[in-house]
Amino acid sequence: MRAAVLEQPAPIETSPLILRDVPVPSPLPGEALLKVLACGVCHTDLHIAEGDLPPIKKPIIPGHQIVGEVVKTNDSSLHIGDRVGVAWLGGTDGTCRYCRTDRENLCDHPVFTGYGRDGGFAEYVTVDTRFTYPIPASLSSETAAPLLCAGAVGYRSLLVADVKPGTNVGLFGYGASAQMVLPVLLHWGCEVFVATREPDHQELARAQGARWAGPLDEKTPEQ
Ligand SMILES: [Zn+2]
Ligand SMILES: [Zn+2]
Repeated sequence: MRAAVLEQPAPIETSPLILRDVPVPSPLPGEALLKVLACGVCHTDLHIAEGDLPPIKKPIIPGHQIVGEVVKTNDSSLHIGDRVGVAWLGGTDGTCRYCRTDRENLCDHPVFTGYGRDGGFAEYVTVDTRFTYPIPASLSSETAAPLLCAGAVGYRSLLVADVKPGTNVGLFGYGASAQMVLPVLLHWGCEVFVATREPDHQELARAQGARWAGPLDEKTPEQ
């Protein structure tokens, strides 16, 4: 299969990802083989490619916003033809204090997709079936892929902040996560105020329906 392989992290201008022909991986017990339908690109991929995150597996195939179709499975919870998503968290120890209290995202011994195990910048990828998510038929693979990282991060922030429908909400920064929570907030009938230093991000926020967007040191109309 063809895959974008990182053998040695290096500045992105030097194109450290190399397109290679590599063997199609075989799923282990508890794993499935997916044909990759779409894989988003995350800023974390840049950190991996450039070595800001120290390599823990070399070579590595990055990519952790994967939507794929099950073509082989060693676990009866998935079926051939299922379309599933795969996110950054690709495995946990299942035994640490976080895993035992429903906070496996903080696991002491996590395995990250596209960092600790090969990811989705490839035609096929193997995954631990416990870390896959069914993708509803109403979502295209390309639309669903970014929801698996930036979308999940943004949505979690709404839950942690306990945002209530119909309230005023301020977003600080307007990266991928904020861009994906804004439509959710509008759907909830919220008024959204975006503070970001990037003028093009301010413009984008207004175009996407923010009531106000401006620099961090400017007062919003509600202040
Ligand atoms: Zn990511
Ligand atoms: Zn754990």
